[in-house]
Amino acid sequence: MRRIFVGLLALAFAVLGALDAGAAESVLDKVKKRGEMIVGTKYDFPPMGFINKGTGQPDGFEVDLAREIGQKLGVKVKFVQALSKTRIPLIVNGNVDLVIATMTHKRDREKAIDFSIHYIITGQRPITRKDTGITHVSQLAGKRVGAVQGGNAGPNLLKVQPKATIVSFQEHTETLLALKQKKVDALVTDDVLIQWMAKNNPELAIVGKLYTVEPYGMGLRENDSKWRDAVNDAVLELWDSRKYHEVYRKWFGQDPEFEIPWYPK
Ligand code: GLU
Repeated sequence: MRRIFVGLLALAFAVLGALDAGAAESVLDKVKKRGEMIVGTKYDFPPMGFINKGTGQPDGFEVDLAREIGQKLGVKVKFVQALSKTRIPLIVNGNVDLVIATMTHKRDREKAIDFSIHYIITGQRPITRKDTGITHVSQLAGKRVGAVQGGNAGPNLLKVQPKATIVSFQEHTETLLALKQKKVDALVTDDVLIQWMAKNNPELAIVGKLYTVEPYGMGLRENDSKWRDAVNDAVLELWDSRKYHEVYRKWFGQDPEFEIPWYPK
């Protein structure tokens, strides 16, 4: 009897040990074992993440940054689409190792996931059609304004213009189409995309000044500091070697006007 009991106890410890090892295994180890890092990125957000019409493949600043991080870690990179509203679930459910998808670092998002250091900073403001004559957020009172679900651009607009009506879409491509088809009078999102829309659509006009600050962080599994350190180190090495600047210049045509922040060397 005693021997059976000791045997069962040993078995229980072995099982617990295995479970614990599974839970403790860092995403970094999994990625290295797999030889591949799975990255959630935007497919609708040029120039950050979008589908290149020529190649049919994901392209953009965040896509290039992911490829550079993969190279630093010595692994291949596989991309899957992340919508604003699926970014956090993709991480929590373990479908992706990393999300690099125009995600503003917010304290309420910290409840479910962790963030890397900030790798770019932008802000928000609306864009409208020139024919609306709208030049200031005060004129959006009573107007329909497009925004994507799961992003903070809709809620942020309501803070500065509570009388606007937010119309929700899944993807920015749909929001832009709705603006062009006059189904909404303006749309709100981050200025990196607003600038791109203005440049590529002469019938559109940017509305006013930035009224938010949006520091982007990469989304990672909660409580995996080994993985977070590896990603942060890769970003900082890219910055220090000025590879970051090369990628930035490719997409924005100039050097960044910010520092990757204030992080101990
Ligand atoms: N950076 C914004 C956010 O994380 C994205 C805004 C948008 O999707 O339009 O919520």
